Amino acid sequence: MKITIEEAKVKKAKPQPGTPLGFGKYFTDHMFLMDWTKENGFENARIVPYGPISMDPASMVLHYAQETFEGMKAYRAKDGRILLFRPEMNAKRFINSNRRLCMAEVPVEDFVEAVRAVVEYEQDWVPSEEGTSLYIRPFMFASEAAVGVHPAASYTFAIILSPVGAYYPQGVNPVKIYVEDEFVRATKGGTGFTKCGGNYASSIAAQVKAEKLGYTQVLWLDGVERKYVEEVGTMNVMFKINNEIITAPCDGTVLPGVTRDSIITLLKEWGYTVREEHLAIDDLMEAAQNGSLEEAFGTGTAAVISPVGELNYKGNIAVINDFKTGALTQKLYDTLTGIQWGNIEDTHGWVHDIAKMK
Ligand SMILES: *Cc1c(COP(=O)(O)O)cnc(C)c1O
Repeated sequence: MKITIEEAKVKKAKPQPGTPLGFGKYFTDHMFLMDWTKENGFENARIVPYGPISMDPASMVLHYAQETFEGMKAYRAKDGRILLFRPEMNAKRFINSNRRLCMAEVPVEDFVEAVRAVVEYEQDWVPSEEGTSLYIRPFMFASEAAVGVHPAASYTFAIILSPVGAYYPQGVNPVKIYVEDEFVRATKGGTGFTKCGGNYASSIAAQVKAEKLGYTQVLWLDGVERKYVEEVGTMNVMFKINNEIITAPCDGTVLPGVTRDSIITLLKEWGYTVREEHLAIDDLMEAAQNGSLEEAFGTGTAAVISPVGELNYKGNIAVINDFKTGALTQKLYDTLTGIQWGNIEDTHGWVHDIAKMK
């Protein structure tokens, strides 16, 4: 893949060290774009100045929501190297998402090379303060101008970059989670296993409801019986019950998280039994009441690990581990972030130095 470069004439001032970066508020000077058409396939891979994309009002994405995305980070190691974490997993998941939505599929090597190239070009934007990173948002949308439902004849693949702050500036903190028993996120045969905008569009109502009640995110139940635990908002979720870890299987409705897979790998290496099984919400609440639920945490790229301190299911409140971060939760957080930022030796081949990826 040949990538052309058009340099921005005007560069933005980078946030000063010490500025609270937040999440997804700042964007770098350039972005990656590539077109796909039915006639020519992918072409015009390019790094161009960051800015508005003009599109026809009949662009199919605006009407039928053919849109998929990924989420990953570039980490600045203490010695200045810039590291990516398992980028080929994001590339493969992007293919699975696009296949489900009948969209063009970016080959794994091209996806990884596009990410590497744009991050390398914008490397001065990778922040170096503790816990900060450069969030990478690859996405694709249907650009064909046509009203009428069919797979689009043209797509745009884009990557934008955003320096983001430490998720836990004051140390890892438990969150309160509302168990959603009215709205559902996914059902078998649907798009639950894909990262598509549509999944999120339909989830916002539940998020708004949870926030009104003072909860940070929702825990989704299965879409058929509203009986089994699936995942939390933008994270997979794991429970430590009687010293075993249980999490929902990736059998169509749950997003196969890169963090989830990495955490399961670490847990198994540490000798834990990890059961990828359907867990009934009634059994989870029972385990919380009788004390066998020892820890609960969400896993995802943004937070890495997010301890769950409280669950509210139909008005019944379960407080987990006295609303404190559990020992295993903390150890997983320290280990995985240690590997991602290059402070702990990577024995799995997960971490890639962008300078050595060409
Ligand atoms: C992205 C995402 C996750 C977490 O995936 P990671 O690869 O670990 O970041 C979990 N659930 C949903 C719904 C997601 O969109």
